[in-house]
Amino acid sequence: MSRWMSGISKLACGVTLFAVGCAAASSSKLADRDPEVLRPDGPQPTRDSGVVQAEPPGEAGVLVGESDAAPDLAGDSESGDASPAVPATRHPFHEPVTGATLSSRAPAKRLANLSPAACRAEAKRRKLAVSRDRRPTPGVATAFRVAGPIGGIKFRTAGRSSRFGVFDCRLALVFDEMGQILKRHEVTEVIVGTIYRPGSKLNKRVKSQHAHGLAADVVAFALADGRRLSVQKDWDGDIGEPVCGPDGHAEGEKAILLRNIVCDLRRAAIFHHILTPNYDAAHYDHFHFDIKRNGRRAIIR
Ligand SMILES: [Zn+2]
Repeated sequence: MSRWMSGISKLACGVTLFAVGCAAASSSKLADRDPEVLRPDGPQPTRDSGVVQAEPPGEAGVLVGESDAAPDLAGDSESGDASPAVPATRHPFHEPVTGATLSSRAPAKRLANLSPAACRAEAKRRKLAVSRDRRPTPGVATAFRVAGPIGGIKFRTAGRSSRFGVFDCRLALVFDEMGQILKRHEVTEVIVGTIYRPGSKLNKRVKSQHAHGLAADVVAFALADGRRLSVQKDWDGDIGEPVCGPDGHAEGEKAILLRNIVCDLRRAAIFHHILTPNYDAAHYDHFHFDIKRNGRRAIIR
């Protein structure tokens, strides 16, 4: 709690260096809050065993369907205001993030729109280490589980007794491409909280991508040198602040590594939506990554 309180004080511009930046960021956040992202009021998932962490209250997610009717802001950036404060030390995550409107070649768009048969053929062609889960998984087009490293990365998901470890074939392809990015950051393992949450909803009418096995909540990354980057312990940021771009702010070695990773994933347009602890209090301990059929934009918050 104290962390968020300190965030509030920072947003109130207690840090003089970022005085302009934080005022601009907080106002622009309110102005351009994405219509695709809602605070849900739907039922929360039940807890399960294995590596699954306790789900925070009010898991946020992403609308399906009508949200795409919202006008696209071509070439917009998540970096916030046009006159940012300049951080003293530059990191890769400070590079501007553009191209929120995805081209047809963007991985998120290409993979999310695959038919089940085309996806299975592609997974087979790539020889992905996945196994088919034939148990009932309503809402999931083709239910897979991890059966070995994907894209050179070990994805630690909930065990076979838990449905939280099930994911759709399309997310398997996404993991494969995610692995190529993560290797650049010396990541060897992704510690995943929940993926499939049957019937998970954002509100009374709209399902979360978790309901389709197309969203993954990631709690930590393990690095080749043995270090672990925990979202809960190592993230440095405050609700409402931009994640990537010139206005992004993170201090501490692990916090900077985490920030560089998620911003690289955003630039690669592998996911439609990436939600971090900067998004809301419900995401204090995990990143939410998802793809969505017919999704047209890539967003990080
Ligand atoms: Zn999630």
